[in-house]
Amino acid sequence: CGIVGYVGHRPALEVVLAGLRRLEYRGYDSAGVAVLNGRGELAVERKAGPLGNLEARLDEVGRERLAGTTGMGHTRWATHGAPTDRNAHPHRSAAGDVAVVHNGIVENYLPLRSEIEAAGIELTSATDSETVAHLVALAYAGGPTRGDLKAAVRAVARRLEGAFTLLITHAHHPGTIVAARRSSPLVLGLGTGETFLASDVAAFIEFTRDAVELGQDQIVTITRDGYSVTDFAGNAVEATPFEVTWDL
Ligand code: GLU
Repeated sequence: CGIVGYVGHRPALEVVLAGLRRLEYRGYDSAGVAVLNGRGELAVERKAGPLGNLEARLDEVGRERLAGTTGMGHTRWATHGAPTDRNAHPHRSAAGDVAVVHNGIVENYLPLRSEIEAAGIELTSATDSETVAHLVALAYAGGPTRGDLKAAVRAVARRLEGAFTLLITHAHHPGTIVAARRSSPLVLGLGTGETFLASDVAAFIEFTRDAVELGQDQIVTITRDGYSVTDFAGNAVEATPFEVTWDL
């Protein structure tokens, strides 16, 4: 129900948690975070229940395990699969190098799950969303989009039916988040040496008021230095900057 992504110079975990807190008003049943840590690993923690449960879990494992300046977070409103720890986002690929957070519904998840299982991969949640992590990992591992994260995300986005805001990180691409959007909210925030993505400006308004409106059926890639937007075919698209002039 809420999504936050951050690439910059601050500890991503704290920025993402602050953003998720700002999005709590939307309602949710589970929460989770992924941070690309200094060891080149995607560290993921997720928990059913309020954000406090996730924070308790983070203190238990040690927040230093999620030290890094690229991260994303999710609050879930379950549509497919019960609100459990296992179904909470982020979801990861089998090798653990791709992490995905998703708001919305992947309508065609059943045939996609079968396809993933046929490739010998065991799904570990009951969600529609987990399919995206595996499909991106498969598209990145071989075929025409091999080794190209943006192209892999575009290829997968074209195959999805339904509404989605997706944020995707890859352990081999620190400092980058790729997002895809169809009929579901996504806004970008531009700071100095830091870039934000969120389902609502409320998530980053305390850090920057320079925002960018994204259109439907677009892919946006962020780094700490800025962003680029394309359509699902890879054609460059102009996005519209605006200033957030209202207060929360
Ligand atoms: N359909 C996904 C799930 O049930 C995402 C729900 C949401 O928008 O939070 O996990």
